[in-house]
Amino acid sequence: MNATPCDLLVTADIIVTQDAERRVIEDGTMAIQGGTILDVGSRTDLNGRWQPAQTRELGHRLVMPGLVNAHTHASMTVFRGVADDLPLMTWLTEHIWPVEKALTEEVIHFGALLACAEMIRTGTTCFCDMYLAEAQVARAVDQAGLRAVLGEGIFAFPSPAYAKTDDAWPIIEALHARYKNHERIRTAIMPHAVYTTTPEILRRSWELAQAHGCVWKMHLSESVTETRTSLEQFSRRPLEYLESLGISGERCLFAHGVDLTAEEMARMAETGVNVAHCPQSNMKLANGMARIEELRRAGVNVCLGTDGAASNNDLNMFSEMNSAALLQKVQTMDPTALNAQAVLDMATINGAKALAWPRLGSLETGKAADLVALDLTQPNLLPLYNPVSHLAYAATGMEVCLTMVAGKVLYEDGRYTTLDMQALADEAARIARWVKAKARPA
Ligand SMILES: [Zn+2]
Repeated sequence: MNATPCDLLVTADIIVTQDAERRVIEDGTMAIQGGTILDVGSRTDLNGRWQPAQTRELGHRLVMPGLVNAHTHASMTVFRGVADDLPLMTWLTEHIWPVEKALTEEVIHFGALLACAEMIRTGTTCFCDMYLAEAQVARAVDQAGLRAVLGEGIFAFPSPAYAKTDDAWPIIEALHARYKNHERIRTAIMPHAVYTTTPEILRRSWELAQAHGCVWKMHLSESVTETRTSLEQFSRRPLEYLESLGISGERCLFAHGVDLTAEEMARMAETGVNVAHCPQSNMKLANGMARIEELRRAGVNVCLGTDGAASNNDLNMFSEMNSAALLQKVQTMDPTALNAQAVLDMATINGAKALAWPRLGSLETGKAADLVALDLTQPNLLPLYNPVSHLAYAATGMEVCLTMVAGKVLYEDGRYTTLDMQALADEAARIARWVKAKARPA
């Protein structure tokens, strides 16, 4: 039998596929052509089948799908650690909003580049982002070589990107037009939340999502306070309010879902909406514990996100998986809740489903060549009994030694191929001085 040519053959001690059977392959091999996976199996199975132009023998490494961060505000890396441990309103009114009002495109672009560097370093290959002047985030993603679903945040009040909401729509249209044929960047419609928009804004945003055939994402049921505000303003809880406007179904991605009733969970499963769980942000802002095990058992597709670096304070999906699994055990007082496989699913295939991007989230024939490799000789990963357990409970993300998106290496053994980390570090110091000067003095 003649071998078929391909660009690259990757071999490693372990491949965690996340395919339908959740296969974990020892002494695994993967054939890649362009940005696509052609074949995955054991070295013996694939022996002689492929004629690669290049071979990468990764040895004592674990190869897995790149992680999908389903909820971020990437540019908020510029606020990382500027103010912590404060009541929400003090934090927002004195430290975040005064600076956000003054944000420039340059700062937003820098923050997004820094976020990309962090995500590449810690194994994330795709993220779903909402912020202001999102075109700057798109520019950063394009440069970094990552994959992303991006949406301009829509508010009922002015943002640094627009003076009035009416001016937001052309910005959203332009972003969509610019990236609609891009291989790695997609756009989505992202009104901020129930309490920062109007019924008219939400209706119009929903129509736009239908017209563009794209994801519609919003913060939903993040706190008890949000529910109370919704009841006061619209006489309905957030989910019911959205449904009264005709907003429902698989296109919907809701960030948080902390304050949900059992009836709402059943309804969410019935309509097929997706929820992005952000445990570290929920803990840090003391918004509460989302009932993720219950939500999953109800049949809702739950994925995982870090939220912005101001309320986390990192964009690391390994620590987020760890937090999600541990928090759910405390929430339910049941150590079997949200096991390692379930939390890895949330960070990979469930995220791909929520973003309506089925080529992502697992390593299988026909899927995108978005993968990361972890160094299995690091002390915290030894010994190795169960690879999936290590990914959820022992890995920190800093064991990532290779990150590849669409078949292209973005990071390998301390070296970025698309970003200048030293220049980013120098620039971070300059931006930090600017942020400090804009924050209202205490
Ligand atoms: Zn958020």
